Amino acid sequence: MYDITSIRQDFPILSRKVHDKPLVYLDNAATTQKPLCVLDAMRDEYLNVNANVHRGVHWMSQQATDLYEAARSRIAQFIHANSPSEIVFTRGTTEGLNLIASTFAQEMMKEGDEVIISTMEHHSNIVPWQLQVARRGIVLKVIPMNDKGELLLDEYEKLFSEKTKIVSITQMSNVLGSIIPVKQMIATAHRHGVPVMVDGAQSAPHFAVDMQDLDCDFFAFSGHKIYGPTGIGILYGKEKWLDRLPPYQGGGEMISHVSFDRVTFEKPPLKFEAGTPDYVAAHGLAVAIDYVDKIGMNHIEAYEHELTNYAMQQLQQIEGLKVFGTADHKGGVISFQVGDIHHMDMGTLLDQLGIAVRTGHHCAQPLMERLGILGTARASFGLYNTKEEIDVLVNGIERVRRMF
Ligand code: PMP
Repeated sequence: MYDITSIRQDFPILSRKVHDKPLVYLDNAATTQKPLCVLDAMRDEYLNVNANVHRGVHWMSQQATDLYEAARSRIAQFIHANSPSEIVFTRGTTEGLNLIASTFAQEMMKEGDEVIISTMEHHSNIVPWQLQVARRGIVLKVIPMNDKGELLLDEYEKLFSEKTKIVSITQMSNVLGSIIPVKQMIATAHRHGVPVMVDGAQSAPHFAVDMQDLDCDFFAFSGHKIYGPTGIGILYGKEKWLDRLPPYQGGGEMISHVSFDRVTFEKPPLKFEAGTPDYVAAHGLAVAIDYVDKIGMNHIEAYEHELTNYAMQQLQQIEGLKVFGTADHKGGVISFQVGDIHHMDMGTLLDQLGIAVRTGHHCAQPLMERLGILGTARASFGLYNTKEEIDVLVNGIERVRRMF
């Protein structure tokens, strides 16, 4: 049973006022709010068991290490990894993508080798590869899309050559909401003998992701977008790849032995976790995952699907409103523009009504260029939003429209 009243009570911040109006928080693609159980778990760890992990023989260090490693196992189970050793803790999706771009290019790519990405990537799945273009002379190939915001899969097939070494694609666009058929695209890449990195920042919080079913080689997502804390993220990598790739950063925790002449490294995942990790956030993320799992990812998906359909219907009634992203398979992210009202004006005026939406290029400037615009206003939904809030948004946009 999806009990929205009780869910909303788990997030006290949703009851606050902004500019003296009840908050309507529709910026979930940027970050989500945290349920009390996550805040309590983190506070409790700092209050009662705080100690550095993996280093101490003392009781609290053991406890903190147990919580940290239990979080890793919980996340492995959540995304159906084969083993906890395939789960690397990072700072977020961005770090996971940088880690793979950097280590994969170092180990597997030479000048002229190609990486395939798509038109609708976030900057964090473009720039890390561009750094390798500059450093190693690799080449970026870009999958085009149609005007609805769907990738052209025939064109994707044509991009493969004997120089293609990796595909790196988002599973859901943070601007258009398009849900990308990554399972099919991974199968295509594998037919060409090419591994695939999936940016799951926008997908993992909204529907079940299963590493065995997708068969991707790497998958990254951020804790803060799935009702967990900031500063923690997950990089999944198939064991054979994590064994093969070199370390990303050097330091404590990731070594097995160091002398001034020689260093040997830990096995994955510790090989990729240099320095003190944010072990409290890792525990907080595991609690957030318990929280969403208890509601059920399938229920969250169905509920948000209903909200999105309702919002699409209602928004499209507004005179002069254009939605960017009308893919057949679309998640709860709606980018829009009303007449020639600047998106910044729209966002600022909605804010005055207590409605939080995002405005701008959403870290996807090449996509903006493809759409021929500079930016949009964007409403994005989470598991605690309601149809009543969408009505407030629609009324708010109408008010703004009438002001111009
Ligand atoms: N990829 C996508 C599709 C995103 O939406 C985001 C966050 N907006 C990121 C990557 C980067 O995530 P983070 O900032 O948490 O590293």
